[in-house]
Amino acid sequence: MFFTEISVLWAILIISSSVLALYLSAYSFFRRQVSGAIEFSIFMFTIAMYSLGYAFEINAVTIERILNFIRFQFLWTTFTAPIFLLFVLRFIRQKPIKSIYYFLLFIIPVIIAALGLTIDSHTLLYRSYYLVEGDHFPLIRYEGGSWYAVQQIYLIGTSLAAEILLLVYLLRTRGTVQKQAILIFIASVMPTVNAILQPERSVNSYLDLQPFVMLLMGILLSIALFRFQMLDLVRAARWMAVDSIHDILLILDKDKNVQDINNAGKKSELLSDLKIGFPFCCKSEFSQFIMSKTIFDDIDIHKRTHHFDWNNKSYKFTVSHVLNRNEEIHGYAFLINENTEVVKLMNELERQAIYDELTSMFNRRQLINLANREIEIAQRNATDIGIIILDLDYFKLVNDRYGHLAGDKVLISVAACIRENLRTSEISGRYGGEEFCIICPQSNGAETYSIAERLRTSIERLVIDIGGDKIKVTASFGVHSTPDITGLNTEVLLQNADSALYEAKETGRNRSVLWSEIMLLHS
Ligand code: GH3
Ligand code: MG
Ligand code: MG
Repeated sequence: MFFTEISVLWAILIISSSVLALYLSAYSFFRRQVSGAIEFSIFMFTIAMYSLGYAFEINAVTIERILNFIRFQFLWTTFTAPIFLLFVLRFIRQKPIKSIYYFLLFIIPVIIAALGLTIDSHTLLYRSYYLVEGDHFPLIRYEGGSWYAVQQIYLIGTSLAAEILLLVYLLRTRGTVQKQAILIFIASVMPTVNAILQPERSVNSYLDLQPFVMLLMGILLSIALFRFQMLDLVRAARWMAVDSIHDILLILDKDKNVQDINNAGKKSELLSDLKIGFPFCCKSEFSQFIMSKTIFDDIDIHKRTHHFDWNNKSYKFTVSHVLNRNEEIHGYAFLINENTEVVKLMNELERQAIYDELTSMFNRRQLINLANREIEIAQRNATDIGIIILDLDYFKLVNDRYGHLAGDKVLISVAACIRENLRTSEISGRYGGEEFCIICPQSNGAETYSIAERLRTSIERLVIDIGGDKIKVTASFGVHSTPDITGLNTEVLLQNADSALYEAKETGRNRSVLWSEIMLLHS
């Protein structure tokens, strides 16, 4: 008897909005990899169910049937506000919410839903209720009970909490995240605004707009989620991949606000000061390092690899422009790789390639490299260069008498003695077993010879303590220096110094011989 055209039309409109809400719920459910999407999906589902219950309520004819649909609505509407609050928390925090919060949030809705299902057997929700014949369909009038007040307070409390959280967040964030927050905030206040603007439920021509407002809210929320966040499947899958890599990915928008950080980045101490939605330039040493370089202004930004050492760790990173459809710079993507172990290993390898393990002097290979360089400089500048090779005398005897370890200790002491007696411009190294070599740039024969003599007397004076035994050693020196080294190379110079050394050995040891002198002798 209450059926009117308006009630049917209104119901059709509401059912259509419910179907749309269901569609949004399903859409979001299938894209649930994205933070907040699952909460949004459940939120839209409760709205769809509530709308459906309302559409049937206004077309029910008996109070029993109306109560049945009201029960059905209670079952869903009580969860709408806390689920929205969860959605907001998820959006703001960007990480899963602890289960204790779920529990605390849902105690009251669960009680209210239970009371709603048993609405006709107690007076906690509706102290009294009766049916009036509205202008378009029957309307239920009621006097709220104590738990009705609890429900209202809880609804206002949770909605207000969500709105305040969003407001604070949108004021603090920048860039895309801020736009997202503004949209979600606008959506969040819509039901409240509607509740204030709508005429009283007591009016007989009352048509509740809330289902449409909720749908509109859902559409705004889905724009915020799907347009700004990467919610299509391919991109979501890409992000899952990005989240599973060990390298850190950091995305900034063009105004250098942090837009996203992958899982590796969230775990790394390097980015621990950064927050999604907040400006990049803050206290973090990493951001200070980036801002101090002109990385952002570099046109060939993607071609360069940068290195950053911090907190005993080494990082290597590249930066790329993120371009929009018009090929304009839309943001920056940092791919950061912590390579402390690799750097350590490389440094160690480099050290081993250059230095002699026992004496920590340059090794033979490095000596020859440096000699090549110095000879080239000397030839170019037409300056002198001297080369000394020294060999310990009767070193085999040291080994034989005191053991190999003692021999090693002697080599270390001699190496230290050589270093102490040289200037920084002179280059020394271990040439072979118990042979050392010294390159003396800009030194003529006499000067090089005096360096050799100085070293010889120092070694001669050296007393090496081996477990109480005092060991003394001497060395023989071959010196090469010639005023004209045009056309000569390292090999020849070393050979000549070696010939002089041989001569020193032959003529009694513990002495220095200049190569030019033996040339004179032999000529
Ligand atoms: P000479 O005066 O003719 O040079 O006599 P020498 O005994 O020093 O001659 P020789 O070249 O035959 O002996 C060099 C010795 O140096 C042989 C080798 O055992 C020793 N030696 C070479 N490298 C090392 C080392 O790293 N540690 C120790 N302990 N001994 C070494
Ligand atoms: Mg030797
Ligand atoms: Mg020797």
